[in-house]
Amino acid sequence: MKKILLLITVFAGLAIGTAFATSWSRANIDCPICKTTNEFHFLQGWGSSGASTHAQLQHIHWLEENRFASVRTCKNCRYTAFMWNFSNIDSTTIGKIQKALPYLELPAQNYSDCITKRLANARQIYKLYRYDDADFWNDFYRVQGFHYARIRNVNQAETARLKALAITSSLLTIPENEYRKKELLFIASSMRYFTNREHDKALKDIDLALTMTYNNPNLQPYQNERLNSHLTRQLEHLKWRINNRQ
Ligand SMILES: [Zn+2]
Repeated sequence: MKKILLLITVFAGLAIGTAFATSWSRANIDCPICKTTNEFHFLQGWGSSGASTHAQLQHIHWLEENRFASVRTCKNCRYTAFMWNFSNIDSTTIGKIQKALPYLELPAQNYSDCITKRLANARQIYKLYRYDDADFWNDFYRVQGFHYARIRNVNQAETARLKALAITSSLLTIPENEYRKKELLFIASSMRYFTNREHDKALKDIDLALTMTYNNPNLQPYQNERLNSHLTRQLEHLKWRINNRQ
């Protein structure tokens, strides 16, 4: 179920028509850990927003690309999480985080710190309760790599992307993932391209992926068709980029 939600979230931008504009406001939101009220960006409605071409090539959703709003940090206790699950945690997890927070070295002090610092907080905190969720970490490290690269921190970007590549490579060995092999091969090729390594392997994987159809048994046919077409477009673009070394 987690994977389906992620997919729907990742591609939601593609599914929505262009009639509505995305609108943000500021909202007072209580920290679930220390109950301090923080003012965060709040998504009122979305419409025609989409990830940039650069983000799409890294399989990054437009909300994850947003360096201001996507990651929330509490100004009091420094608890940090993505905006879509900042408040959505159960009481056992809250207890676990409350106990661990005083012992963590969290670089981001508040919401206005650079997103790379906020993600460094988030990484330590998610490790407390989502340590075994390979899909989550695959996504997380791609997002981290994307934002490190944006501020020209090449080494940290590469480290994060290589982690995403390692996780993706391991997911590709699991027979149950056959239905989403096209997506995984795209991610692996993307991470190879953005870390400037094994371009031959990436091109081979892209050609293989282009022969495949994405077909998640838990999605509606129209959703699968949409995701499949999206992946085909991204694979073709990535192939062009690698061949032209851009
Ligand atoms: Zn707090």
